[in-house]
Amino acid sequence: MFSKILIANRGEIACRVIHTARKMGVKTVAVYSDADARALHVSMADEAVHIGGSPVAESYLRGDVIIAAAKATGAQAIHPGYGFLSENPGFVDQVTQAGLVFIGPSADSIRAMGLKDAAKRLMEKAGVPVVPGYHGEAQEIVILATKAREIGYPVLIKARAGGGGKGMRRVDHPDDFADALSGARREAKAAFGDDRVLVEKYVDKPRHIEVQVFGDNFGNAVHLFERDCSAQRRHQKVIEEAPAPGMTAELRAAMTEAAVKAAKAIGYSGAGTIEFIVDASDGLKPDRFWFMEMNTRLQVEHPVTEMVTGIDLVEWQLRVAAGEELPLAQDGIGLDGHAFEARLYAEDPAKGFLPAIGTLHHLSFPAEAAPGTEIRIETGVRQGDAISPFYDPMIAKVVTHGPDRASALEALADAVSRTEVAGSTTNAAFLAALARDADFASGDVDTGLIGRKQDELTTMAAPGSRAIALAALAATGATASEASDDPWSGLTGYAHFNPLARRATLSFGGVDIVAHITARPDGRFDVRPDGGEAFVLAAGAANAGATVAAWPGHVTVFENGRSFDFTISDPFARAAEIGEGTSSMRAPMPGLVKLVRAAKGDKVTKGQPLLVLEAMKMEHTITATHDGVISEIATEGSQVTDGTVLVRFED
Ligand code: ADP
Repeated sequence: MFSKILIANRGEIACRVIHTARKMGVKTVAVYSDADARALHVSMADEAVHIGGSPVAESYLRGDVIIAAAKATGAQAIHPGYGFLSENPGFVDQVTQAGLVFIGPSADSIRAMGLKDAAKRLMEKAGVPVVPGYHGEAQEIVILATKAREIGYPVLIKARAGGGGKGMRRVDHPDDFADALSGARREAKAAFGDDRVLVEKYVDKPRHIEVQVFGDNFGNAVHLFERDCSAQRRHQKVIEEAPAPGMTAELRAAMTEAAVKAAKAIGYSGAGTIEFIVDASDGLKPDRFWFMEMNTRLQVEHPVTEMVTGIDLVEWQLRVAAGEELPLAQDGIGLDGHAFEARLYAEDPAKGFLPAIGTLHHLSFPAEAAPGTEIRIETGVRQGDAISPFYDPMIAKVVTHGPDRASALEALADAVSRTEVAGSTTNAAFLAALARDADFASGDVDTGLIGRKQDELTTMAAPGSRAIALAALAATGATASEASDDPWSGLTGYAHFNPLARRATLSFGGVDIVAHITARPDGRFDVRPDGGEAFVLAAGAANAGATVAAWPGHVTVFENGRSFDFTISDPFARAAEIGEGTSSMRAPMPGLVKLVRAAKGDKVTKGQPLLVLEAMKMEHTITATHDGVISEIATEGSQVTDGTVLVRFED
């Protein structure tokens, strides 16, 4: 076994790898960018090396600098995590040439599977079922459109270099093909520097079921059963689970056999995933699954497999890379219970899931699960850390395990509801709604489920009067003194608020709320929101069942598994905004104005696409918030920051 490894990654996956390395007595070296100088993975590792600036191209993608760091610290091997350099065969070659071990498959395996088109041709040859489509070299629009017509609509355009759902467009009608193609190409070019695409049949009622495989350097290959990742939003995984609900013995046998065949066809070593698409329009049938792609790395969702097999996949990766044989043969690998994983992101469901940024002023995860179930939190951040625009805005993976699907799902809904984040908008409420959704619970899940129910799943609950009262009290600064056993400290509020009363002005979802707060002699407060019920509340954490987090300009109240973010009104800021005109649309996040679809003087209607903002390598269409005439609009190609006015309307 290695005595020291370097982890060429950041965030939760770097922490995850360090965890297992430590368990195995292997020393770890972390690498970090400017933005990550104080990141959790840096503090967890035995050593850490600064590798450059915050943008990934200046740090986490600098293979040469990372290899030099490994050499300088005496690490013998490099674990790439996922993303970044994990599927870059050139990097694997450099690592090997430097006399180090890459903890992952060979460069040849990565090359064979790296491009979706070539991988499909290879799998076809190996006798693995592949989705009907055009995987050829030609890229002329006339040829692709003709192929699409031959395949039959609906079709899916995919970036051959794709990943993470980027550069992918479903097309229902030939008329939309050209537009979708240019959108897919732009996104693919931006994300992968390669705008070539393939076109395939869009599978009806598709389910995404993938098989975890593992190979070693002695020609052995096994599978660790399947994961279902059908709960997706715009082709990105939201909740994953193992095993797949409704899986039959026949389909499992056929899929796992095909997966092991695929791994063996390329002499695969290490952890890999064979992704299949399954047509579930008529139940799960053994002749209705097709190879989509192989991911030649550890997947984000690997914990669900660990929870149901009891196997530490990172440990296996280290053992195989160190030259050991697979620890278990196929018949030694079993399935126990059911597991879920939900991806908690800093993103705003109400704004079309735009990635969000911010400082995590308050962050708390549930520690205990209901009897018989388990909760596992995989995170790379702590309270006080920032979600920056430089990296993936994932905050944590919330993983649960139970004896059966229903108990594991209940544990997930519970765990997500009890997760508290203040300082950035998150998808927590959306995840909880999905975990509690009746259709999701039934197990009859296809990749379109979230899209069909999006409005329902993203409806924001309004705060009740107690939550408003708690927020108002916190807005006066009264939560700053934590509840204490010392009666004198309990009275500071009284002294501080003397003579008697204060007024707090807040807003929630754009609506102003005024509350009147009076200090009581017992150290508590009477809080009465205008037109609402009055409450007697204690400052700090003493109000049962609710947590209040105050942070600059905001108060977030967590109550009954929901969170409400209030803005503390600042009359000066308000005046400035009114002076500027109320009729404007601002950039919700930093990005590049990719496309402008309207011009000064245009009369537009609510919901009409006005421009495309590229942020975090994804395109986001900005639509008109209301009917109006445009008086000003951002210019194509301009770089904007958070809050820049993109569109102004005439009064
Ligand atoms: P990426 O590498 O970008 O993640 P994949 O090829 O893995 O792309 O596909 C991502 C998701 O897109 C799948 O999980 C599935 O939901 C959907 N998808 C892919 N191919 C098809 C298809 N032919 N028909 C319908 N949906 C598809």
